[in-house]
Amino acid sequence: MNCKKIKELIQLDYMDTETSAAVTEQIRGHLRSCADCRAFEHMIKETVSEPFRRAPLVEPPERVWCAIKEAIELEHHRAVEMFPSRVVRWVKAHLLINTPAFALSTAVTFALMVLFYSQLPFHKQHAVKDYLREQSQFLSSLQDPVNGDFERETSVGTPIERFLF
Ligand SMILES: [Zn+2]
Repeated sequence: MNCKKIKELIQLDYMDTETSAAVTEQIRGHLRSCADCRAFEHMIKETVSEPFRRAPLVEPPERVWCAIKEAIELEHHRAVEMFPSRVVRWVKAHLLINTPAFALSTAVTFALMVLFYSQLPFHKQHAVKDYLREQSQFLSSLQDPVNGDFERETSVGTPIERFLF
C-alpha cells in the first residue's frame, strides 16, 4: 500500500476501527516505517477524532423522543387517512375513462344512432316512391299507346303520377 492509500484509510476507516485486522496490521506496519504518514495520523487524531472522543455523551431530553414519536405517529395517521382517496384516484386512473372522453364518445354514439334511425325511413320512403313510380309507369304504358306516349312526353300524365308528384 502506498502513502496515498494509507492516508485515505486513516481518514475513513482506521480511526473508527472499521478496517479488517489484516488491513489494520498493514497500516500499523507502514506507520512504523513512514514518518510522513505517522505525522498525518497524528494530525487526524488531534483535529478529527480526539475532539469527539473527549466530548461528553449527551442524552437527548425526553421531549425530543416524544416529538419524534408524535411526528412518526402523525405521518402514519395521515397515510391511513389518505388511503380511500388514493384508492379512488387509482380507480379513476386505471379503470374509468376520463369524463370529457366519455362525454364525447357518448355524444358521437348518440349522433350516429340518430343518423342511422333518421336514414332508415328515408330509404324505405325512397323504395316506396320508386316502386310506385315504376307501377304508375307500367300502368300508364298499358293505356292507349298514342295517348300514353303523348302524355308521357309532355308531363306527368296519369292520375297516380299527378297524385304522387
Ligand atoms: Zn507513508
